[in-house]
Amino acid sequence: MTMSEQNKDSAADPQKPLKDLTDMQTLVSLCKRRGFVFPSSEIYGGINSCWDYGPLGIELKMAVKDSWWKSMTQFQDDVEGVDASILMHPRVWEASGHVENFNDPLVDCKKCKARHRADHLKPVRELEAKLGHLPTLEEMAKVLENAGCPNCGTAGSLTAPRLFNMMFKTHMGPVADEGNHVYLRPETAQGIFVNFRNVQESMRRKLPFGIAQIGKAFRNEITPGNFTFRTREFEQMEMQYFVSPGTDTEHFERWREARLQWHIENGIRPNKLRFHPHGQNELAHYAKQAGDIQYEFPIGWQELEGIHNRTDFDLGRHTEFSGKSLHYSDENNNKFIPYVIETSVGCDRFVLAVMCDAYRANEDRVVMQFHPKFAPYKVAVFPLMKKDELVEPAKRLYDELRKTFKTDFDVAGSIGKRYRRHEEIGTPFCVTIDYDGLIDQSVTIRHRDTMAQERIPMAKVKSYIETAFQNWKV
Ligand code: ATP
Repeated sequence: MTMSEQNKDSAADPQKPLKDLTDMQTLVSLCKRRGFVFPSSEIYGGINSCWDYGPLGIELKMAVKDSWWKSMTQFQDDVEGVDASILMHPRVWEASGHVENFNDPLVDCKKCKARHRADHLKPVRELEAKLGHLPTLEEMAKVLENAGCPNCGTAGSLTAPRLFNMMFKTHMGPVADEGNHVYLRPETAQGIFVNFRNVQESMRRKLPFGIAQIGKAFRNEITPGNFTFRTREFEQMEMQYFVSPGTDTEHFERWREARLQWHIENGIRPNKLRFHPHGQNELAHYAKQAGDIQYEFPIGWQELEGIHNRTDFDLGRHTEFSGKSLHYSDENNNKFIPYVIETSVGCDRFVLAVMCDAYRANEDRVVMQFHPKFAPYKVAVFPLMKKDELVEPAKRLYDELRKTFKTDFDVAGSIGKRYRRHEEIGTPFCVTIDYDGLIDQSVTIRHRDTMAQERIPMAKVKSYIETAFQNWKV
């Protein structure tokens, strides 16, 4: 039997257009079924908002980190990397303003016990739009007095809003008392600021230069949800770019453009991306200018990355609280505290955007149209049937290809089913060895997106794929 006899590909009907993802639950199921993301501690019933990356999810996530890290520390010649510890001196969080300001207003429903962020509730959002700034706690209490609980609908059941600090607190050492409390960092940025002097001196850097870091951050979010979009433990990819005051606006604009471009080069569709500048009332306590790169998730337009002009706030506060000068002297002996432009993208949130963006389906097939650099497997090799004379050369090709690419080898089930599985996990190419190929040393290579099949020499598979990846159109 040959490939063409075996493979009547019924899904290859161009009349059936592939559609975008419209609801998150479809993606959650695919991720579980295909080994991308599992609910954390599932055998114990799971734990709210915590997720584990499975074998394919971790491949994707590591590729995302690699792409970001290289774009910062390899393709940029003025950015250095660090990996700071998660636990830091507690004074760091006083200096940063997190102890005082990292609060969200929380309300409880007395009837159903649901918790809500007061500033996300409709009456408060309407008041905010009218006032042009976030209402005070008293103003929120007033408009929420007779409001209905969004969960159970009961009117007048919400408590007055109170501020809730989102940092996770724990204790260092065996005795839990106030003298030895520490926080799980709520952002990676502070690990960069406290190392500003170390990096600048050890790497002999002059302004402007940046420091990049990838790492976990923890926020005790009141309303986590929407899969991995908002969780209490997540990873950030942050870069702080230190500049002379007066040049900050120009660097802000430059990084805004560079970061938007990075998302596009990484295969995110440009029509799903936009920049939303923050109005004065949206600015964080440290920011002079800020905005979000937003992505159109199935839940609507949401922040993917924040770009902030943090001024000299952070280095100034750490100078004040630590008593160690974080001033910089330029070549004219002008002494000043550098300004900071921050780019901060959630790694998990970007992975989610990549998956939402890649998802396409019709009634016959689901295809994850990943950019090849994010595809967990770059290629899969199949013997047409489970017969030694086909399995052996297929295995040899697989062993050859996996020196270069993450490759899968699959003999289970019909060829059609194997194609469907690899479309659903986003493998750009599948290579099949059949009996004709044993005679002339050729294989069939199948393209994930177009389903086109070509006959090529077995010896050319590696270079064929390399060329296709180099010329991949985003
Ligand atoms: P949001 O308004 O969504 O809470 P934020 O403005 O507080 O986000 P930043 O502090 O600017 O977020 O954090 C930078 C990035 O970190 C965000 O753009 C997002 O991608 C990611 N991020 C922040 N909070 C979470 C979270 N709870 N879960 C997953 N990712 C997050």
